[in-house]
Amino acid sequence: MLLLEAGPDYPDLGGMPDELKYDLNQAASEEGAAHNWSLVGRATPEQPGLSHVARGRVTGGSSAINHQIMLRGLPEDFDGWAAAGNDEWGYVKTLPYFRRLERDADVRDDFHGSDGPVPVWRHSRGDWLPLQEAFYRACIDAGFPDDPDMNHPDATGVGAFPLNNPGGVRMSTALTYLNACRHRLNLTVRPNALARRILFGGAADSGGGGLRAVGVEVESGGEVFTVEGEEIILCAGAIASPQLLMLSGVGPSEPLRELGIAPVHHLPGVGQNMKNHPSVSLVFRSAAGHHPAPDAPRNQVGLRFTAAGSAARNDIQVQPTTSYPESREAPDIRIGCRLELPFSKGELRLASADVAVQPDLDFRFLTDAEDCARFRDAVRRCVRLFEHPAFEGLLGERLDPGDADLVDDAALDGWLRRKAGIAGHTSVTCRMGPVSDSMAVVDQYCRVHGVEGLRVVDASVMPEVTRANTNATVIMMAERAADFIRGR
Ligand SMILES: Cc1cc2nc3c(=O)[nH]c(=O)nc-3n(C[C@H](O)[C@H](O)[C@H](O)COP(=O)(O)OP(=O)(O)OC[C@H]3O[C@@H](n4cnc5c(N)ncnc54)[C@H](O)[C@@H]3O)c2cc1C
Repeated sequence: MLLLEAGPDYPDLGGMPDELKYDLNQAASEEGAAHNWSLVGRATPEQPGLSHVARGRVTGGSSAINHQIMLRGLPEDFDGWAAAGNDEWGYVKTLPYFRRLERDADVRDDFHGSDGPVPVWRHSRGDWLPLQEAFYRACIDAGFPDDPDMNHPDATGVGAFPLNNPGGVRMSTALTYLNACRHRLNLTVRPNALARRILFGGAADSGGGGLRAVGVEVESGGEVFTVEGEEIILCAGAIASPQLLMLSGVGPSEPLRELGIAPVHHLPGVGQNMKNHPSVSLVFRSAAGHHPAPDAPRNQVGLRFTAAGSAARNDIQVQPTTSYPESREAPDIRIGCRLELPFSKGELRLASADVAVQPDLDFRFLTDAEDCARFRDAVRRCVRLFEHPAFEGLLGERLDPGDADLVDDAALDGWLRRKAGIAGHTSVTCRMGPVSDSMAVVDQYCRVHGVEGLRVVDASVMPEVTRANTNATVIMMAERAADFIRGR
């Protein structure tokens, strides 16, 4: 087995740069950082400029630069995947794989794993920073339930986030999965190797009959190589996987032709239906004397609730952030608020036939009226929540949204559309589904429709984005796909 990775590889924890090892310096995941592709995308049609889209460029991928919240999707998310024609992915079938991946230090029951590779823990209440404690008290007083285990299937309300960073060390998939396999004689890891396209044998398109993936064209050290394989498994993430499929001629045929790429198999869903979690920050001045420390834990306590009038449970997530990148002033305090099951869909389009040119990312957040209504309710509830006396001495004046932004629905919609940012949770760009779904790219065993010997296993194949940060779900999917590949 050959693992190709565009970024570097750090096999020893000792030799790993601190920005990957620790959650202390978030500069690691910001623009220009060494292990970040630092892409850009348009969040809403109203925003004139492009926003930063972070993706990890190192073994472990985005799990090596992420914020280590280890939250599962809801049972309803996976039952929704099954209802869309993917009956291997309902909650009951995915639960054993969530259990398999984790080693939960706090919760022992039928829903949690205790001997998997990824360590999971929570800050205990005695260790919560003052802002986190105040947030918890305000939420309880506002009537939100206590949530002692956010990964329980019925969980909702306010509680400690499950995290995969015991001792502050970010336990990426490079540390938890890859390192455990490095001794295997059938595994070769090749970092600094940029896949340029997938190579095919067999009949070219019109229906894809007989088309087979036989290898990958790879650039390494300024030279181009061809590697062959019995099966190619594309795990380049929700942006690069559809990009590589299209560069290889698999995707919507007409736009490929316009870029001079010969289509080998027409799959109109590649790059379509792009999802993510639109995110806004409520910004407060720090009260005199209270400043978030650069080395404080970033996330401790989170709140999930259902927006007014919404049929989607837990479609809002709120998290106060309590640390800042080193060497940066912390003039304000930011409260993150996210819409977890947006109905608006975006699009990823190939901008060039050159792999080095990133695709155009058009997220089209808040183009759905119901998304706006749910997000408005969430922001208004957050504004009220942070008026609680528990925040005295911690939070000063609210800087954003201003009162004028809250005056009516139109003003608040305007603010949301101007301020919505892009989380690291891009997904659904090669969605899984049966042949009858014309926009499906892979079947439920992650095999690309109409092509032999080619699977995609990453966030791109989610049939719908989960109501949770995406890392735990992507690892679960990889565990499940590994069983499919082994024929189990
Ligand atoms: C800043 C940030 C914070 C996040 N925080 C959280 C969090 O707290 N909790 C959570 O659950 N989720 C979080 N996420 C999301 C989570 O980390 C991702 O959903 C998950 O890692 C996605 O996995 P993936 O396999 O789909 O893609 P990735 O992890 O992005 O992996 C893709 C890999 O493919 C490589 N690659 C791409 N193109 C090529 C090419 N042409 N040739 C060779 N290799 C290539 C990349 O370098 C990368 O290593 C965050 C993401 C980011 C970016």
